[in-house]
This record gives sequence, structure tokens and C-alpha cells, in this order.
Amino acid sequence: MRILVVEDEKSISDFLKTSLEEECFVVDVASDGEEGSFLARTNDYDLVILDNVLPKKSGKEVCQDLRGRGRLTPIIMLSAKAEVSDKVDLLDTGADDYLAKPFSFIELKSRIKALLRRPRNVEGSVLKVDDLEVDTREHSVKRAGKEVYLTRKELMLLEFLMRNKGAVVSRSAIMEHVWDIHADPFSNTIESHIFSLRKKIGGAGGKKLIHTIPGRGYKLSA
Ligand code: CA
Repeated sequence: MRILVVEDEKSISDFLKTSLEEECFVVDVASDGEEGSFLARTNDYDLVILDNVLPKKSGKEVCQDLRGRGRLTPIIMLSAKAEVSDKVDLLDTGADDYLAKPFSFIELKSRIKALLRRPRNVEGSVLKVDDLEVDTREHSVKRAGKEVYLTRKELMLLEFLMRNKGAVVSRSAIMEHVWDIHADPFSNTIESHIFSLRKKIGGAGGKKLIHTIPGRGYKLSA
């Protein structure tokens, strides 16, 4: 899952990037409203964390921009002003949630998870396909009840495939949701990660779960 953080205070955006990456999210950072609006319009993020007071364009304006263009990406607004009128005002612009600064990362994390769960991901924290299980809260993977150890990137990739189980996901969709903006779209990164992922979750005589669909992408199904 890929998140855009729009925040001009470097200490906060650094903290968010590091903490969210530890939670297995892919994170891009924009440091002003114009850049944030541009990135959010040109990439398919799963969620945007948007500070309200920003250079060039306020969070509120960025939010209106996106909603005005029909972008439904979940947005959590951050603002130093914790007054109720402010909160209602921000939610009125189309933000899904609001958090007053200073905030605790644990609270932000639980709100992110709540927003990502709805409406399409009604399943709990454990994703299952055949005898393969991914616990998105614990970041653990089991095949036929046996623990499988994955790198963080492999885990992100597997989680993305699991959330789209039964559907063909294209290379560009994988690139958009599992790699950040600095990734080289022409490298064989995806192939090599699919290769190692297949090897690790293959298990002893287990059913093949990750299928290559020539010319279209990959599909995870039993
Ligand atoms: Ca700010």
C-alpha cells in the first residue's frame, strides 16, 4: 500500500516516512501543497496524509483540488489547530479524517488502517488464499501453517497481490502501489521479487499460487 505524505516540516515527514515504512507501507513525501497536489493527481495512492498549513497551497485547497477532479483517495488531514469548527471545516472539504498536531503515531496508524479497510477491504487483518496466510497487522506469513520469512519488499508485494486475489494485476499497478517514486520502471525489479517470492512461498509440493499472465501481469489464486 502506497501513501503520500504532504508535510513541510521535515522532522515530521521524516518521522512519518520512517515509521510508515516500518509498517510496510511505501511512502512518497511532498513538502508543499503544489507538489502534493501534483503527485496525488498523477499517482494512484492508497491514502494521503495531508498537513493543512503548507507553502504554496494549503492542505484544504489540495483536498478541494483532488475531490474536484473526482479523486476519491482517502485523505487524513493534519492540523495544529484543534478547534471543533476547524475540524468540521476540514472534513467539509472532502477529507475522510482529521488529526490534531501533536498526534501519536499509534493513533494515526489505527486511523490509516480503518480507512484502508473500507469499503473494499472488509476482511480482517489476515488475508488468506488456499493455505497461504498473511497477517497484515503482525507482518507475518504462513504457508500450510509454517512460518515463511520474507523481506519487507516481498511482504509488500505479496500483500498487494493478496488484496487483489483472483484479479490480474499489471506491472504498472504493482509499480504504483508497491514501489515509491524513485523506482526505475524499466528495471527487472518486479520480476526478481516475484521470483524470490515464489521460491519462498512455494513450500514443499505446495500448489502454485502466483501465476504469470503473459502480456498482462500477475495473478494470485489457488
Ligand atoms: Ca505545516
